[in-house]
Amino acid sequence: MDKIISLCKRRGFVFPGSEIYGGLANSWDYGSLGVELKNNIKQEWWKRFVHQRTDMVGIDSALIMNPKVWEASGHLKEFSDPLVECKKCHSRFRADDFGEKCSECGSKEFTKAQQFNLMFKTFLGPVEGEENIVYFRPETAQGMFVNFKNILETTRKRLPFGIAQIGKAFRNEITPGNFIFRTREFEQMEIEYFVKEEEWKNHFEMWLEEMRNWLKHLGVKKFHENEIPDGERAHYSKRTIDIEYDFPFGRKELYGLAYRTDFDLKNHQNESKESLEHTDPESGKKFFPHVIEPTWGVDRSVLVAMLEAYHEEDAATAEEGETEKRVVMKFPKWLSPVKVAVLPLSKKENLSNKAKEIYGDLVKDFVCEYDETQSIGKRYRRQDEIGTPYCVTVDFESLEDKAVTVRDRDTMKQDRIAISELKEYLSKKLNS
Ligand code: ATP
Repeated sequence: MDKIISLCKRRGFVFPGSEIYGGLANSWDYGSLGVELKNNIKQEWWKRFVHQRTDMVGIDSALIMNPKVWEASGHLKEFSDPLVECKKCHSRFRADDFGEKCSECGSKEFTKAQQFNLMFKTFLGPVEGEENIVYFRPETAQGMFVNFKNILETTRKRLPFGIAQIGKAFRNEITPGNFIFRTREFEQMEIEYFVKEEEWKNHFEMWLEEMRNWLKHLGVKKFHENEIPDGERAHYSKRTIDIEYDFPFGRKELYGLAYRTDFDLKNHQNESKESLEHTDPESGKKFFPHVIEPTWGVDRSVLVAMLEAYHEEDAATAEEGETEKRVVMKFPKWLSPVKVAVLPLSKKENLSNKAKEIYGDLVKDFVCEYDETQSIGKRYRRQDEIGTPYCVTVDFESLEDKAVTVRDRDTMKQDRIAISELKEYLSKKLNS
């Protein structure tokens, strides 16, 4: 884990938040490569689950919603974690996730557990009073429920259909930690899939399979499906499977899949007095659709993608003359923040002009980097560490034979390719 955190900082994936002021309680900022990686995850997810399906639509709802939303959803009452405090040093911990001893001072004496609500509060408008309290959303899900009627009316979707949303969520976690695994501000990719009650089981299985396929696509080789037993599920759920991953700090939740019954629509109808029932087009009968909710954490996706991609190879497999170990991020190609690096062998003007011309053409189709500093070995090393699948080297011969060398990140094999065929060659390789 320390290796990943240091690589993230060194290469510009993730930085400690507000670093020049000493940071802020486990907050993190995504750097130039981190934002590309995160965007790739979000865009691929959207393409797969919204654009490529006829039964899905997307929305982007407000972060701050009417507080009645959180009354109806149960968050104001139920969205809490048990908190204990060390009697000696007053450090606070989540009672369901800590060891026997205080990790700060070693004491074994704690206060009794108390429920601590995780909602972030703020005030709407210039007056700070009870009546102006609003909350930052702790999940994107409720945005989908409160727009259910609007979506039905404007998209003419019929059951089964789903609404997807990607966005920030805020939770005043008692103990954030483990890098980007648990933060107080994070992003979610969520789907609320509306079905007829009698069909929920099939749709639950369908989404479980979709989640498995997504994990494979992300490059995750091993994960666990944890069926949450009666009594331990969230108050609204009749079936929940947590998708868990063996992180370096233990087995923890990566994603979740829940059958939320008709809990949300029913409660929002009660609270808002707006009809949220669906009319069956055949029978004309009105009923509350039931909901299957698959949910993905964006930041936890970034973290597992980094952990899975990280490889160290010994010198025997590295380029000639290289003696240290090679660190290479073997991301699936669609996920790599940079797809192609263009590297002139020297900074000489005629060579860099040619290389810039090639870069200018490639950048129209792929996310590319241009780099002419340091030795070619060091530049390859840098591209390996950020997971760039292909390096294009422009050498003196290129000026004569109108060809370049393309180096493959994983095999380190080099192919000589005519410049006129380079785009097609890279396109094929990147889509393979
Ligand atoms: P945990 O048990 O780890 O607190 P949860 O069960 O509260 O998670 P959900 O409410 O199911 O999580 O949230 C959906 C997804 O959002 C999680 O599967 C996870 O990927 C992500 N997530 C939840 N809380 C955080 C957080 N504090 N930081 C980063 N991602 C989070």
